[in-house]
Amino acid sequence: MSSLPTGTPWVVLKFGGTSVSQRHRWDTIGRLASKRIEGGDTRVLVVVSALSGVTNELTAIADGAADAAVRVDALVARHRAFAADLGLDADAVLGTHLSTLQGLLADPRAATRPLDWQADVLAHGELLSSSLGAAYLQTQGVDIGWCDARDWLDAIELPNQSAWGRRLSVSCKREADDAWRTRFAAQPTPVLITQGFIARHGDGGTAILGRGGSDTSAALFGGLLRASGVEIWTDVPGMFSANPRDVPDARLLTRLDYAEAQEISTTGAKVLHPRSLGPCRVSGVPMAILDTERPDLPGTRIDGEASTVPGVKAISRRNGIVLVSMETVGMWQSVGFMADIFERFKRHGLSVDLIGSAETNVTVSLDPSDNLVSTDVLARLSEDLSQICRVKVIAPCAAITLVGRGMRSLLHKLSDVWATFGKERVHLISQSSNDLNLTFVIDEADADGLLPQLHAELIASGAMPVDDGAVFGPSWKEIQFGKPARVVKWWEDATERQRLLALASRGTPRYVYHLQTVRERARALNAVGAIDRRFFAIKANSHPWILRTLEAEGFGLECVSIGEIEHVFATLPGLDPSRVLFTPSFAPRREYDGAFERGVNVTLDNVEALRNWPETFRGRDLWLRIDLGRGDGHHAKVVTGGAASKFGLPIAAVDDFVAAARTVGVRITGIHAHLGSGIGHPKHWREVYAELAGVADGIGTVDSIDIGGGLTIPYKPDDQPFDLALWAEGLAEIKAAWPRYRLAIEPGRFMVAECGVLLTHVTQVVGKQGVRRVGLDAGMNALMRPAMYDAFHAVRNLTRFDDADDAAFDIVGPICESSDVLGIDRLLPVGTAEGDVVLVSDAGAYGFVMANTYNLRDLPQEDVLE
Ligand SMILES: *Cc1c(COP(=O)(O)O)cnc(C)c1O
Repeated sequence: MSSLPTGTPWVVLKFGGTSVSQRHRWDTIGRLASKRIEGGDTRVLVVVSALSGVTNELTAIADGAADAAVRVDALVARHRAFAADLGLDADAVLGTHLSTLQGLLADPRAATRPLDWQADVLAHGELLSSSLGAAYLQTQGVDIGWCDARDWLDAIELPNQSAWGRRLSVSCKREADDAWRTRFAAQPTPVLITQGFIARHGDGGTAILGRGGSDTSAALFGGLLRASGVEIWTDVPGMFSANPRDVPDARLLTRLDYAEAQEISTTGAKVLHPRSLGPCRVSGVPMAILDTERPDLPGTRIDGEASTVPGVKAISRRNGIVLVSMETVGMWQSVGFMADIFERFKRHGLSVDLIGSAETNVTVSLDPSDNLVSTDVLARLSEDLSQICRVKVIAPCAAITLVGRGMRSLLHKLSDVWATFGKERVHLISQSSNDLNLTFVIDEADADGLLPQLHAELIASGAMPVDDGAVFGPSWKEIQFGKPARVVKWWEDATERQRLLALASRGTPRYVYHLQTVRERARALNAVGAIDRRFFAIKANSHPWILRTLEAEGFGLECVSIGEIEHVFATLPGLDPSRVLFTPSFAPRREYDGAFERGVNVTLDNVEALRNWPETFRGRDLWLRIDLGRGDGHHAKVVTGGAASKFGLPIAAVDDFVAAARTVGVRITGIHAHLGSGIGHPKHWREVYAELAGVADGIGTVDSIDIGGGLTIPYKPDDQPFDLALWAEGLAEIKAAWPRYRLAIEPGRFMVAECGVLLTHVTQVVGKQGVRRVGLDAGMNALMRPAMYDAFHAVRNLTRFDDADDAAFDIVGPICESSDVLGIDRLLPVGTAEGDVVLVSDAGAYGFVMANTYNLRDLPQEDVLE
């Protein structure tokens, strides 16, 4: 039995409270430990927490709860019951510890509750759970021994530490000599179990490691034993790119380096205590966070070798942040001001987290979880500081932190994130000197709902490189509910593919539109009860058959030029003009005259036109396009709101507009806003409606509110369809709050993007310095979106549809421009060759309508499929 070679490497497995409170979990622990020692070349140290809830009870007892005796009795009963559940003799296994615990109440020290007595009380949770575990696993045939952590971990005293900290929140020695390791290895069983949370005090008594203590114990043992790994087994799958409770799309982080993991746990992730990383980091022991209930998931692995790909790995939010802003006139170049103020923070035992400074102001943040035990401290600090500066306390705030390596090299990808914060009142921005974090401090109330949006923006901009499979695992939603079904496109059907190949043989580039798909989208929107009027923005696709199809489904048509209006009436001669909207931008006067002559609904978005062309507008009904001061969309170039955008009348100018309208007898009957295109979060439109209804209430003559278009579609293979149900639910709610307006929408992309494909032929396949390129007979001349917006369109080789897509190519067109690229690093069959038909997906919106004859290349052809 004791013939184990002393050099056998250790692995440390740590289990928390929920993992040790049920019998079947102990079976898992036994299984995991046994598996590790199977080959005989590894030994296992199991470190455990107390049963869940027990440490809280012991803390109350140590703090002198009046009903301490009752609480101790309850703890005794609970452990006895669990022993019975495990089929153990409670007296034999727990008797000594239970009577010691009861004895502590009778101990003379109980009257004054000195710190050493409190430590003795607190230690019992782990002493009991580890004893139970050892005894149970022995009955299950595991060759396991019990050891007292206090015989192996030594507390050390740090300068500036309070007496409380030196007993109840201790640090431990991180070095051990060979003699220590030899003694430890001399324990006879291949598996050992010990307690987290406790250590030996310098005076021989018990010391407590404090919060996160069991993780730290495991890490300390891992470092001292030079273990091959420390595994933290818990009830979550690992660390995520955001708190999954706020962001269900948060991705499991499968691989981090110590510094990143440290930063993520320091800035909010609860799964690993930040203190626990240090011991493993200094001794280079890899750590892993794993899920006891789902041991097959990859978990989070933390080591020193993780790739240092720059990119945001996580975004976190900490609430309850207190900002202290200190204003002085005399600070500029004055020596020692900083020292004076920080001396005062030190005096009150407050540690400062973030710092921002200016000529006359220093603002710092305090993290309440560690510092602000009582609000008194803050009052006393303010009083103290007010002797040298003017003090303002700003609370409660939230700190939102982006964590990842190489933050400074990512700034160009963070423009959407900055824009989002631009809409909030930001009190402080701080960038850590280790280039690992960027933090924004805003009012706590403003932070609600921000994280999902920021997380999505980080992914969309490429700042969070979720395609890197070495670092990013499945999303929480996927782990919880399984991988969502991939969106299947109409052209994947074998019959449709044959029809497409036949059309391609008539010549390419060629757009093909599937009218049934258009009908399906129309019917989906027709089913949304809150909407009264639907218009199709024909600039997305003005093919006559698309217009006829949508008109037949009850849609009106939205035009942005007199040319589009003429095209609409040429295509649908009998169309009632009230079903046509005209929403131009900087159009010449004659287009407005022409539109009024046609009898269509005209929208105006500035006061100058009203003043300069009174005869055009006199006595007319008008809709008014508003700029709500912000925009949105899949790319900066499709954002149509905010100061930088040419569209819309600012809210502040509405009164002016109303006055100017009155002088020419114009009645404002509609209010409109279209803030951008390709918006994926369904809450956007209900907010727009609410804001426009507020404006409409102030005008009085309005009967319609038009919330624009902009609904997105799933372009990428992993994208999910736009959440119409959630969108409809939001609209129904907001419509119920303002029922008197008719709600209008004017989507373009959503109606037609997925119905259209661009068929092309391969012209050449060329390898150049490691990059393989597939050339098509259609490029940015036929489909502008990738060059203009970095838009993603999936590509498939229709000729070799059943071959595996096993080789990466850049997909390029025939235009003499470097931006003539339809896709980068796309997978196509390795045999892709000249003459193959390649399909570009989801090209029905903003495809043919933007095509041009640059380089004197012909425009693409167009076909429809019924
Ligand atoms: C382009 C446009 C739309 C349609 O936008 P989509 O993103 O295609 O839905 C709607 N309204 C106006 C005023 C537009 O200019």
